[in-house]
Amino acid sequence: MNSISKRVSRSGAPSSLRVSFEFFPAKNTDAEPVLWDAIERLAPFNPDFVSVTYGAGGSTRERTEGTVARLVRETSLRPAAHLTCVGASRADVDDVIRAYRAAGVRHIVALRGDPATGVGTDYVPHPEGYRTTADLVRGILALGPFDVSVSAYPEKHPQSATIEADIDVLEAKVDAGATRAITQFFFDNDLYFRYLDRVRARGITIPVIPGILPVQNFQQTASFAAKTGASIPAWLAKRFDGLDDDAATRRLVAATVAAEQVFDLLDQGVSDFHFYTMNRAELVYAICHLLGLRPERARQAA
Ligand code: FAD
Repeated sequence: MNSISKRVSRSGAPSSLRVSFEFFPAKNTDAEPVLWDAIERLAPFNPDFVSVTYGAGGSTRERTEGTVARLVRETSLRPAAHLTCVGASRADVDDVIRAYRAAGVRHIVALRGDPATGVGTDYVPHPEGYRTTADLVRGILALGPFDVSVSAYPEKHPQSATIEADIDVLEAKVDAGATRAITQFFFDNDLYFRYLDRVRARGITIPVIPGILPVQNFQQTASFAAKTGASIPAWLAKRFDGLDDDAATRRLVAATVAAEQVFDLLDQGVSDFHFYTMNRAELVYAICHLLGLRPERARQAA
């Protein structure tokens, strides 16, 4: 038994362990129940927050707002609304921020967003829009006291020339008032720790929460990784090799891979985890369970 399984099995989840879950707004009415089933299933883990993404180019503005408003109205969860600068004037973005404030939302994940012309093309800010994420962070905080999270890239953003240039951007976002960074997904924990060392060496002290992506579908993950500049280690490809037509084994392997990753992070002192759920609860539920978390209701009843 390794030290982690000892720690988890003897005393339940470490008391400092905190999880958060990311969802995307349902694409249509058929997908709504899938989203809300996933939220309901994971809610009893009492996440620190649940975040709702903002579609590329602001394409899901209404659906993101609607999902976040429903979370405030119908649940006791603490929602974090993603917001990007793409294709909108400051006035429009400020309207969204004010609407969130009025709806009771107190946490925004501030992002530049991908260019409307597609990932990999040059980013051109809206002529009357926020030019950078740091600008957006300042704009959000000018409209009220919000908790503002931002992105971080352990393998650098594909548009950053170097990792140090990438950390310059993170530093600007922190100087503007961001209080937490959530990382792009990664599979090699050494990349995260090397990045964290560099971030800390620059005097950036905010939490940098690892974003964990359970591999629901290896091919999809690989193509997403290629676009976002995240690397897929050879050992990961090997683990899913030959399982294209075997969904049940794929799920078991995916849970094992993600559990190994979070146990190793936990072992090295990480206590906060942000899960990219892809609106599916099953794998994330299993990983939270393995971490020693138990649904609040069950714990209260015990
Ligand atoms: P930033 O961190 O602000 O910048 C990223 C990079 O862009 C910089 O490192 C730099 O290379 C370049 N850059 C930025 N400003 C300048 C400048 N002034 N001059 C030169 N280069 C510059 N996308 C969505 O559309 N909706 C979402 O809900 C969403 N959620 C996300 C959540 C997380 C946790 C992460 C990690 C990413 C998310 N994304 C989302 C993706 C994100 O929008 C893209 O990666 C986008 O390309 C960069 O946005 P950012 O806020 O991360 O950019």
